[in-house]
Amino acid sequence: MRPPHPAQDDRPVLVLGPNPTPNGGMHLGHIAGPYLAGDVYARYQRARGRKVVFTTGTDDSQTFVVASARRLGVEPEELCRSSTELIREALTAIGISFDGFGPFDKTYQATVLDYFQALHAAGKFRLKTVKMPYLERTGEFLVEGLVEGECPVCLATCRGGLCETCCHPNNFDDLLNPRSTIDPQDVPGVRETTILVLPMEEYREQLTAYHEKWAPYWRPHLVQMVRDVLSRPLQDLPITYPLAWGMPAPFPETPGQVLNAWLELIPAGMYTSSYAAAQLGRETEPGQLWLPEENMRIVHFLGFDNAYFFALAHMALLMAHGDKYIRPEWVLTNEFYELESEKFSTSKRHVLAVQELLEELPRDPARLYLALTAPEYQRTTFTRSGLDKVTRERLVEPWNRLAETIGKATANAAGGPSALPVSAHGRALAATMLSRFDFNYEMPNYSLNRCADTILTQIARLGRLAADLDGHGLDEKPAAWGDLILQVRALLALSAPILIDLAAAARDAGGFDGVLAPGAFEVADVAPFTPPLLSLTAGDAAGSAAQR
Ligand SMILES: [Zn+2]
Repeated sequence: MRPPHPAQDDRPVLVLGPNPTPNGGMHLGHIAGPYLAGDVYARYQRARGRKVVFTTGTDDSQTFVVASARRLGVEPEELCRSSTELIREALTAIGISFDGFGPFDKTYQATVLDYFQALHAAGKFRLKTVKMPYLERTGEFLVEGLVEGECPVCLATCRGGLCETCCHPNNFDDLLNPRSTIDPQDVPGVRETTILVLPMEEYREQLTAYHEKWAPYWRPHLVQMVRDVLSRPLQDLPITYPLAWGMPAPFPETPGQVLNAWLELIPAGMYTSSYAAAQLGRETEPGQLWLPEENMRIVHFLGFDNAYFFALAHMALLMAHGDKYIRPEWVLTNEFYELESEKFSTSKRHVLAVQELLEELPRDPARLYLALTAPEYQRTTFTRSGLDKVTRERLVEPWNRLAETIGKATANAAGGPSALPVSAHGRALAATMLSRFDFNYEMPNYSLNRCADTILTQIARLGRLAADLDGHGLDEKPAAWGDLILQVRALLALSAPILIDLAAAARDAGGFDGVLAPGAFEVADVAPFTPPLLSLTAGDAAGSAAQR
């Protein structure tokens, strides 16, 4: 069955960002990856009048928290608290419009436990005795973020559980040359332990059918990875680990063990969905929005580096619940974003935090540049010189010339500006803009790169039209001005998911009403107005006419 064409798909949409791990702040690589993509998508869906719930929440149970806390010499709980604050601050500063950012609270934990207890009661898990890296000196098993070695599939250096390069899982004692991430001199031995696992092989048929249905629509790297994983025996998925950090697993067979933190993320999504819906005024039980009768579609944005969990492990767990819950329809992955052609690295201090960039630059040009260079299909890089060049030469200067030309003509209109006629040609051009932006904002074509590039292309085109009219009064060429102003209004409305402050200032100036229904630009006349300006100086939001 083909998925419904998104242009005709007015079901409410649940947009999920990945859960940030609270082991530090948020850098531009995170934002240019799934968060900006999710935000722009959610904003466009809202503008189209669809019901949207956009949510995430932190991922406190991960061993990466413990490893980072020990390297920093702080308590993991304290690191979670301070990092969550930094993460929320960064998301707000750059304008990621989550409807609710679910806290790691008692309801979160109860939702996760219910989800796993139902599967345990239904006999979906198996006990399995496995060998795992073990440090005699500390008496600890080293798994997930606590261990590093070489990936048995691609030989890249990776952590336990998952390789961020090829995205294949590595479980138990699969890692080559394992060592501790806290102290690489600590070389573990192996020790046997008995844990609960989900036999993934039992879900092969369902996983294959699900993925082949979506393979024509998802990004190729994800499809290739999934097919590669499915071409091999599917590894048993660890449900519990013998670790001291994480949510206690409530199963009698595995006393003292915790749940595999990665696997919390679907019930966490169920919890944060309800948390966000409550912020929007609708109270639901966690999980309710994932029931088929709610008729929602899930769009999941995430980094390729952990796509194995979202595309395979989480999916098998959802399948183990039978048909109780819906499954994500669109899973959009991104690749790594680099800083000046080098990987972002907190430990090497090669990072640029969101807050640092926004001390120098307003968020609209920052969002535009991140959207334009987002790593959708391959690794891309942030460069300071590229940011300066693009934002100055293709965004701020040409936009401001265009806005000033229109503002001057509006201000000079004899007897005050009055409505201008729009020609059939002008309406057709605005409709073409709507259709082209819609193509770029909607699945299956959704692309931040192309949305951003389309904004810049249209600024340049409308700038040429404005230059031709400059010096002519509104009353001298009313239809030409009417056509131009209608298209500028269309551009402001269509760039609003990315240029959020410019859009807000334009709404205040009477530029458009923020709604993008089909036929939005089928008008006979248009009111002239003074478009707001953009700034390259931090602290200046999109300007108003008064700032000229
Ligand atoms: Zn690998």
